[in-house]
Amino acid sequence: MVVGGGRTLEVSMKHSRLVWTGCLILGLALSSPSDTEDRTRQQRERMVERDIRARGIRDGRVLSAMRRVPRHLLVPEAYRAQAYADHPLPIGEGQTISQPYVVGLMTEALALQPGDRVLEIGTGSGYQAAVLAEIVTAVYSIEIRDNLAKQARKDLQSLGYHHVHVTCGDGYGGWPEHAPFDAIIITAAADHIPPPLIRQLKEGGRLILPLGSTVYYQMLTLVEKRDGDLKLKQMGSVRFVPMVGKVKGTE
Ligand code: SAH
Repeated sequence: MVVGGGRTLEVSMKHSRLVWTGCLILGLALSSPSDTEDRTRQQRERMVERDIRARGIRDGRVLSAMRRVPRHLLVPEAYRAQAYADHPLPIGEGQTISQPYVVGLMTEALALQPGDRVLEIGTGSGYQAAVLAEIVTAVYSIEIRDNLAKQARKDLQSLGYHHVHVTCGDGYGGWPEHAPFDAIIITAAADHIPPPLIRQLKEGGRLILPLGSTVYYQMLTLVEKRDGDLKLKQMGSVRFVPMVGKVKGTE
């Protein structure tokens, strides 16, 4: 009885080990790359519907760009699970990737056309640059922090965004070699608009930035260059990490 019971136990343990191994293999097979792709596609779809479209972003180009860019592959691994959440995330060096809605809002405000050339100041994770690159033919992006610039350049290349050009430096002076730009986006807070960027903006072009205090809140401001004049539109308050470098020295 005891022996028989022991044997049964042994057999059933072997059996359960087999079942567990089977489950493990099945589990691994279930989370195949294509499953992860499907899952993140669904997460993006939900993010676009719930956090972007439902809040009034209607530009079809912006919506489909945000449906396509794999945001989870542009944030640090530790934050991947939160990549499609409705808030900003840390990207290292005290910097943050913006909340998806803010990316949608700023991109839509630029009223981009497919043939446009766009300049971004503050590459960060490269996510905003990738969203722009889904819409236009050339994106030039400047990042002041060397490590972030290198990481973003590598990630954007591996995702196939070969028409995003990332350089490391102070974006205050823009990128004169590639100017003029149809649109300029500054993704760090500044208390004034760097004059070189206004010069590098095409007539009829648009520039958007969080303008105001670099410590507290800023006003998301859209600038249009018309007949050499600037037309400003305020789009609501936001909070961005500060622009650093020359912009500070001119305070
Ligand atoms: N657009 C980014 C988020 C930007 S966070 C994204 O999609 O992830 C702001 C970025 O601006 C930070 O990476 C910061 O290092 C950078 N930055 C701050 N001052 C800058 C300057 N003067 N020139 C270029 N980049 C700057």
